[in-house]
Amino acid sequence: MKQKRPATLAAQALGWMDETTKALVPPVNVATTYIRDPDNLYRSGYSYGRPDNPGFRLAEAVLTALEGGRTCLMFSSGMAAAMAVFLALRPGDHVIAQRVMYWGLRNWLQSFGREWGLSIQFVDTSVNGAIAGAVRPGQTKLIWIETPANPTWCITDIAAAAGIAHRAGALLAIDSTAATPILTRPIELGADIVMHSATKYLNGHSDVLAGALVTAAEDEIWGRIVANRTNLGAILGPFEAWLLLRGMRTLSLRVERCCRSAQKIAEHFVDHPRVVAVLYPGLPNHSGHAVAGRQMRGGFGGMLSIRVRGGEEAAIATAARVQLWKRATSLGGVESLIEHRASIEGPGSPAGPDLLRLSVGIEDVEDLIDDLDQALASGN
Ligand SMILES: *Cc1c(COP(=O)(O)O)cnc(C)c1O
Repeated sequence: MKQKRPATLAAQALGWMDETTKALVPPVNVATTYIRDPDNLYRSGYSYGRPDNPGFRLAEAVLTALEGGRTCLMFSSGMAAAMAVFLALRPGDHVIAQRVMYWGLRNWLQSFGREWGLSIQFVDTSVNGAIAGAVRPGQTKLIWIETPANPTWCITDIAAAAGIAHRAGALLAIDSTAATPILTRPIELGADIVMHSATKYLNGHSDVLAGALVTAAEDEIWGRIVANRTNLGAILGPFEAWLLLRGMRTLSLRVERCCRSAQKIAEHFVDHPRVVAVLYPGLPNHSGHAVAGRQMRGGFGGMLSIRVRGGEEAAIATAARVQLWKRATSLGGVESLIEHRASIEGPGSPAGPDLLRLSVGIEDVEDLIDDLDQALASGN
């Protein structure tokens, strides 16, 4: 049969059903231990709860199919997933990392990552030539990018980065949380490892903390990553795995809606007198628009930022006046969120003091625009 498309794969969780009961929905499997066969083997493939659980295996299979990868690991959080990659490297390894990235990971790399002995070089990978200028053939082991990248939504050319990485003998890993597998399939473009904070779009309902890694190959570093998850027990609990799979069934619907609304919101506010700039790759004046158009299909994502005229005070005051948008961190849920990023990211953040980050949910877009309009208009 022809390869099924993402909406189909996700909606039916690959067509899974329980062989005994014919149930369409998997049970929550809470066992932490499994019975050994009389001849001492574990034929079911399960032995203990720290390395494995049937609940997250199905979610992993769905994400593997959506990303077109070889296999996938679910983690207890996006950070746990990212950590598992960096801790699979060895002290002394050279790493190039996107400077504009999820702030929690940047902070970890700058502190614990360096103490662990990694030689980490931050560059803005969205700038042409930046990766090529930093790469050290034979020494660089990993290039870590995020695209679109928090919180300016700058775009890194995945295929170009993969080419540079592979010529230097390095791996390309990408935090694809904002793009989701609906919009971008980085492995097709040459990436080796795709990371998601599944807390965001994959789950979509702001009620599960989860992370994922999808790999293009089951190679030596992947073996070390698997061992890291098992040794740390950084797995997804059975209830969380069940909720995540339920959320993933509607991924394509939610992402389509979020993209359409984000594009409308970006276009509405781009010429607004109280807005200095709208940062959204779907706008033709965005520096990454052309590359994003090539590597994102069907939309430019549900995330954008606006820079409010009047600086920090005006930005925080605008966030205080919204009624519908929720003032909260995180992203990728069904409800729209607004956040003053500099307040949370602290010094060293690429978010200017006037920047508000918007995570567009699935509400009626006209309601979202009206609410932001009134919040901006009542400033003076
Ligand atoms: C939230 C987020 C993370 C961290 O994921 P957690 O699930 O919170 O650990 C990493 N990268 C991006 C882009 C994120 O938005």
